[in-house]
Amino acid sequence: MQFHFIANEAVASTSARTLPVIDPSDGQPFDELQRGNAADIDAAVRAARRCFEGAWHRLGAAERGRLLYRLSQKIAEHVDELTLLEQRDCGKPVSQARADALALARYFEFYAGACDKLHGETIPYQDGYSVFTWREPHGVTGHIIPWNYPMQIFGRSVGGALAAGNACVVKPAEDACLSLLRVAQLAAEAGFPAGAINIVTGYGHEAGDALARHAGIDHISFTGSPRIGTLIQQLAAERHCPVTLELGGKSPQIVFGDADLGAALPVLVNAIVQNAGQTCSAGSRVLIQRDIYELLLERLGHAFEALRVGPAAMDLDVGPLIRQTQQQRVWDFLSDAQHAGIPMVAQGVVVDEAPESGFYQAPTLLRDVPPGHRLAQEEVFGPVLAAMPFGDEDDAVALANATPFGLAAGIWTTDGARQFRMARRVRAGQVFINNYGAGGGVELPFGGMKSSGYGREKGFEALYGFTTLKTVAVRHG
Ligand code: ADP
Repeated sequence: MQFHFIANEAVASTSARTLPVIDPSDGQPFDELQRGNAADIDAAVRAARRCFEGAWHRLGAAERGRLLYRLSQKIAEHVDELTLLEQRDCGKPVSQARADALALARYFEFYAGACDKLHGETIPYQDGYSVFTWREPHGVTGHIIPWNYPMQIFGRSVGGALAAGNACVVKPAEDACLSLLRVAQLAAEAGFPAGAINIVTGYGHEAGDALARHAGIDHISFTGSPRIGTLIQQLAAERHCPVTLELGGKSPQIVFGDADLGAALPVLVNAIVQNAGQTCSAGSRVLIQRDIYELLLERLGHAFEALRVGPAAMDLDVGPLIRQTQQQRVWDFLSDAQHAGIPMVAQGVVVDEAPESGFYQAPTLLRDVPPGHRLAQEEVFGPVLAAMPFGDEDDAVALANATPFGLAAGIWTTDGARQFRMARRVRAGQVFINNYGAGGGVELPFGGMKSSGYGREKGFEALYGFTTLKTVAVRHG
């Protein structure tokens, strides 16, 4: 049985109700979570406020940095344990779960070093004045975390907020809480004061909704679906609470005829099958210049056929999807594709060892997807790659930008001038030239344009979003 983590204590929900934890690899329950409600959120917000105004506030920036660094070390010491939790809870193949745990340690290492380097400015002003700015934490920040990368998104969001001096209340997704509850315990062991990190588990429409409505939350960081992103903005607008939103994408990989296809191929495949395609920045559309369309589709098809899908513990190319409703969502997209006559080029293979009751989906490559079809417009959040041809650069830009989203884009060409032209014209928060994701570097600001959201997490840039600016003008004559 798992408990909320409030003020460094394991706490049962006042609802006296629980939720099952399901292993996506076999669809079976193996643990229970507290089903948090508004009263639990209120207790967590109060604990965070006490901490923010007390122990956390008194701590100097360098000392705060040391605490974050100690947590990063603790996480590094517990990588195997966290990997196992994430593997079971989220169905991530072992090596992907491990990469996430290592990334979490790295987030806290990066933000540890940033704590005492975040400062304001002095501003030249009229004679007789001295003017300067302070960067102050918002206070209590709320973090609504999705299930696809719980550790990484906790690291980028909570790591940045803590570094800036906020106290945090976290609502993980109901499908993926175990690793974060353990990390909160590790934080307490590392010496974080009670209330700096609080975790309330439960459903979005209960605990999440209560967090978004709570008057004691001074900033909300949300990563999730566009629909819930809209709700969060509406609730936050009622009390003018600032929000950072990351709402996914339909990110294009744009491959020109002069690209190094040998280098591109494994990256194109990985960008859609990593985490079974349940990645906000998945490269879910591949736009291919007409002269290499057939050639690249053939090579992609062979690569897809070689992909193996199975239980997380087998550590194959692809694990299960998170839950049955997600599997159904992917099936619905594929059946729409079939009805629309969209040709399927290739599929990977679900291995015999995969239990029938697990949530598996073979990676699927579709071609000639019409630009207006929902497979070219909406996030599938599964291992489904939509291929479409383009003619020239203008055509590529028009196609790349023809979705409501703008999170990431990959551009594959050996023409240097074209690399820059394309990078300027594609509307996306991150653009990668002859790579995709750049290894996920925690240093690289991440966030969207258009319906992919606003505000940035990761990198030093995130710290500006987790602070507010105070201008102080001293008249001294
Ligand atoms: P998905 O459909 O992929 O699960 P969601 O946007 O529903 O994505 O979930 C992302 C996060 O938002 C999860 O932590 C979820 O519990 C939370 N959430 C869902 N509904 C609400 C809501 N009405 N208010 C606040 N948070 C919510």
